[in-house]
Amino acid sequence: MKIGLENLTKVFPGKGRKNKNKEVVAVDDFNFTIPDGKLVGLLGPSGCGKSTTLNMISGLLKPTSGKIFFGDKDVTNLPPEERGVGMVFQNYALYPHMTVADNIQFPLENLKGDQKLSDQQMKERVEEAAKLVKIDELLDRKPGELSGGQQQRVAIARALVKLPRVLLLDEPLSNLDARLRLQTREEIRRIQQETGITTVFVTHDQDEAMSISDLIVVMKDGEVQQIDSPQKVYDDPANQFVAQFLGIPPINLFDGRVADGKLWIGDDPVLEVEDVPDQEVVVGVRPEGFILAHDGHLKDEMVRTEVTGRDISIVSRNLASRNPLVRSILSSDDLHRIKEGEANFDLKPHKVFLFDEQTGKRLRGKLKPLHHGHPEAENIDALVDGVEDQIELDLLTQAENR
Ligand code: ADP
Ligand code: MG
Repeated sequence: MKIGLENLTKVFPGKGRKNKNKEVVAVDDFNFTIPDGKLVGLLGPSGCGKSTTLNMISGLLKPTSGKIFFGDKDVTNLPPEERGVGMVFQNYALYPHMTVADNIQFPLENLKGDQKLSDQQMKERVEEAAKLVKIDELLDRKPGELSGGQQQRVAIARALVKLPRVLLLDEPLSNLDARLRLQTREEIRRIQQETGITTVFVTHDQDEAMSISDLIVVMKDGEVQQIDSPQKVYDDPANQFVAQFLGIPPINLFDGRVADGKLWIGDDPVLEVEDVPDQEVVVGVRPEGFILAHDGHLKDEMVRTEVTGRDISIVSRNLASRNPLVRSILSSDDLHRIKEGEANFDLKPHKVFLFDEQTGKRLRGKLKPLHHGHPEAENIDALVDGVEDQIELDLLTQAENR
């Protein structure tokens, strides 16, 4: 079932006499339709309004303004128990004195009217839910006899047992250790795909959101920043915040400027630019956007190289960098190209983003490689692999023309 959010807004009044006028806009004019059967990751730093959004969808919180639709039905004023949602929280909060089976069955016992189930029907539902999350062997245990990961599965089974139309998960993996987190998120994805339940998954962990979501909603200070597929959010960020929030290692930021049809970082021209007016800009370069080249245009100061098996990371310094260090990631095939003390790079245009210095908004122009003045054989060699076809073609044409 699709979920429609229309101008959804939540304002909390300031608490206490001192903060009376300091209201918090926890969610600010959220508009989006969550497609049927998809898993949407709600991603953003702590306090950005993720839980508030989720709690409005579940009905635990009443919006200050705006509307919520389940399918075509306006559910804004419907109480939680009539919405058909299953919820899982970070604190799975199982009843310690009850068995796993009784914990899972609990939400079924209060069903009334034509929803009421017989003991046998309840037992079957519990077994089905337990099977789905793979804890059907553990039904007779108490929560205290389970690992954290198993307890979280019980909580998920409990959320699924009422056959909800919508599954809402609020940082469900935060209490698990790293390995279990990885495993359980795969499980959640599997369960979601098997059941086809429309799911909203709240997390502050970009890696988590990227790995299991069909769509990611990036939020900041109650405002939606971007809604796109994980790959698109990474490859085509709407603004500086999104670019910085996604990516490990994080994007490198430089003070730069657009002038004379070129993009400059410090005194180095690094790319050709079209369709961006001359101005100061913030330049974001993904770590994988650097090409090590003896005559590369961006002249960094080498700090160290780190070899991590598959990749090499060159850690360098640049006066125009907004961070103390610049981190690039190259393939370990590039190891032989590293020259003592030298960190000169060309940049891959599609890994470079320009942002308005004041607003952080993306400046969408066309970026192209600079033409090298004198491509010597060794430089062609150094540039060709790993570089996009564009550069490769440019260089070959130049070499041929001479
Ligand atoms: P997140 O889940 O993204 O960490 P929340 O949705 O919990 O963020 O909170 C968003 C903002 O609303 C925060 O500034 C938080 O302090 C505020 N907030 C949340 N719940 C309440 C409340 N019950 N009363 C007042 N302010 C609240
Ligand atoms: Mg929260």
